[in-house]
Amino acid sequence: MTAIVVGHKNPDTDSVAAAIAAADLMSKRGVPARPYVQGKIPPETVFVLETFAVTAPELLGPLAGQKVILVDHSDRNQAPADLDQAELLGIFDHHKLGDITTSSPLFFHALPVGCSCTVIKQCYDFHGVAIPRNIAGVMLCAILSDTLIFKSPTTTDDDKKAVKELAALAGVEDYAALGMKMFVVKSDVSGVPGRELLFRDYKDFEMGGNKVGVGQLEVVDIKLLDEARPELHIALQEAKAEGRHTIMLLLTDIMLEGSELLYLTDDPALPEKVFGVKPGAGPLWLPGIMSRKKDVVPKLGAAFK
Ligand code: MG
Ligand code: MG
Ligand code: MG
Repeated sequence: MTAIVVGHKNPDTDSVAAAIAAADLMSKRGVPARPYVQGKIPPETVFVLETFAVTAPELLGPLAGQKVILVDHSDRNQAPADLDQAELLGIFDHHKLGDITTSSPLFFHALPVGCSCTVIKQCYDFHGVAIPRNIAGVMLCAILSDTLIFKSPTTTDDDKKAVKELAALAGVEDYAALGMKMFVVKSDVSGVPGRELLFRDYKDFEMGGNKVGVGQLEVVDIKLLDEARPELHIALQEAKAEGRHTIMLLLTDIMLEGSELLYLTDDPALPEKVFGVKPGAGPLWLPGIMSRKKDVVPKLGAAFK
């Protein structure tokens, strides 16, 4: 039986690239596997797949009776709803440990690095399996995407080493230029409905019995989001009204290296508790805040304890 490899909901470049790479690695190690996605592939990832002529994974179907490998998450919230009806073979990840449990033994490859593809790159090397040129290309882009071309505080030396080696394998001479091209594609939000933008790179968390959501838009110039602001505010209000205690959207400018925070919450003191800043009349700019995973979720979780 072919195993299903799938990343989190609201797929990003890492969850797609990691599924493709993990399926290739597992197949070459005697576990036939195929990559899938849980939702619409975002424009940044479409660009990456086209650049390296890699076929886009198909949309995931029912999991009942299937063998599954998860990448880029280990949270129930992020996983397929019917995961319990499948056999979970293993996980490749780089996030905090989630709440998924299993009844059978599994493999779990996780490291506190900037990208799941860095973890998978090390697994290829460990097992002495060669990485195909085109898969090296999408893995390279995933690391550049997740680490914001090394500007994110989640970046480690392992990520930088993996990028160098994957760029050589993929025949990419200037990986920073490729990364910028990718973020320019990601920054083009014109004509995209506000709700789609809010949920494009979005995660719900369970915090102290509350549903708390954090979205993030990473752009090369925050002004590119000006036109979308009215619709984003409406989308935030709608999402808040759907039973969330708090909803946040980080508008991250990767050149200015900081984020503007849009939020709605039942706890008016929350922004100060989490970021140490008192909201004023103007935009709430958070210098240096680049990473949902490292700069936001841990402090947000602590505020709900
Ligand atoms: Mg991800
Ligand atoms: Mg990732
Ligand atoms: Mg990301």
